[in-house]
Amino acid sequence: MTRRIRTRFAPSPTGFLHIGGARTALFSWAYARHHGGDFILRIEDTDVARSTPEAVQAILDGMNWLGLEWDEGPFYQMQRMDRYKAVIAQMLEVGTAYHCYMTPEELDAIREAQRARGDKPRYDGRWRPEPGKVLPTPPEGVKPVVRFKNPTSGKVAWNDVVKGLIEFDNAELDDLIIARPDGTPTYNFCVVVDDWDMGITHVIRGDDHVNNTPRQINILSALGAELPQYGHLSMILGSDGQKLSKRHGAVSVMQYDDDGYLVESVINYLARLGWSHGDDEVFSREQFVEWFDLDRITPSAAQFNFEKLDWLNAHYIKQAEPAVLVADAARRLAKRGVSIENGPSLEAVVALYRERVSTLVQLADSVEAYYIDIQPSEEMASQHLTDAAKAALRSLQARFAGAVWDKATLSAAIKETCNEHGLKMPQVAIPLRVALLGVSQTPAIDAVLEVLGRDCVMARLAKLG
Ligand code: GLU
Repeated sequence: MTRRIRTRFAPSPTGFLHIGGARTALFSWAYARHHGGDFILRIEDTDVARSTPEAVQAILDGMNWLGLEWDEGPFYQMQRMDRYKAVIAQMLEVGTAYHCYMTPEELDAIREAQRARGDKPRYDGRWRPEPGKVLPTPPEGVKPVVRFKNPTSGKVAWNDVVKGLIEFDNAELDDLIIARPDGTPTYNFCVVVDDWDMGITHVIRGDDHVNNTPRQINILSALGAELPQYGHLSMILGSDGQKLSKRHGAVSVMQYDDDGYLVESVINYLARLGWSHGDDEVFSREQFVEWFDLDRITPSAAQFNFEKLDWLNAHYIKQAEPAVLVADAARRLAKRGVSIENGPSLEAVVALYRERVSTLVQLADSVEAYYIDIQPSEEMASQHLTDAAKAALRSLQARFAGAVWDKATLSAAIKETCNEHGLKMPQVAIPLRVALLGVSQTPAIDAVLEVLGRDCVMARLAKLG
């Protein structure tokens, strides 16, 4: 019988959920969803010095924003200490682990000697029980660590679902410390017990964990556990091929929300970071889940590309439900302290700009000018609001005063003004834009006028003096 697919995302809460972690979570989630399995969230908080409740919350917020729902958890490793200790006790009993009384000073001394001889520094197996071997007498007052009895020969190999066959010589692996002198279990051990207890079938994680995998496999085998499959995702590089940094987008996923990216865009974008389905670039979450499998993940590093993210975001903004964009613009304006109450219809203003922006911040920036007191910059004013332009705007103002407020009439008024002053269309329309919205480029001027409404247009023109 094939096992039910169970994947997990196991972040350490030492910072925000960044773009690399989010991609790992997305792939693990999508694999479970594709196969109708379970996705588990586990918080690896045993590094108490670096783990914080704020970071836990940031991870949960990020997962919620991305819509990566988990079926079980979040499980917290700090709440599972008794279980880890019980497994360690059991391993000591059956002899797959042993007490080691070597002090850190002794360990340093042997490593120093090994280095001096040109050998790789490693634990020398002093306290490792072997048939017929007489162990030293435990020293008084030294609290032992517990070490895993790693096989000393042969290889540990796995067929990585992303990277292919990976193998390590057991001789290269030390007897790993699985419990510290105070009895607390170590990182690799907790991961193993969790993956075992949680019935994880596929461990999908960053390739910074490749060196942990042979140790984890050996411990799982010693426990008699069925091994999961492993898939190690290559790192994400910045657009210049360097390690991803803040400048490249390695920020909290919530920052993408702040910066005006729709979650659809971020999911679509992340999905293509190291995975492909033919030449498909634009696809929904549902489509992704339907297509996703591990065999189309590229083993080479993926590169982050903001232009592509912006392009996707522009696409999803065009596709979005009007109400979603309106609510978002309202939220951003409220945050800026801009009231929309006495201005034009936000629906109408958003509709004017949704095809012209690539982020929701740009949308809010464009929309904001309809609700605040506009003061064209000096540069704009001196360039566009010349005496000749102001004279034209004044006759336009007079025409507008009695006009029926529809696009056709407003366009006609502008044309008449051009004729009267011997000016070309842009020579009137651009100063008008600057006077009304403080910028020289806007959507079609008749549409802008219609949406702003007579009162607002007249008030803004009156300010020209
Ligand atoms: N807690 C580890 C991390 O945040 C992940 C461990 C794993 O996926 O096995 O890097």
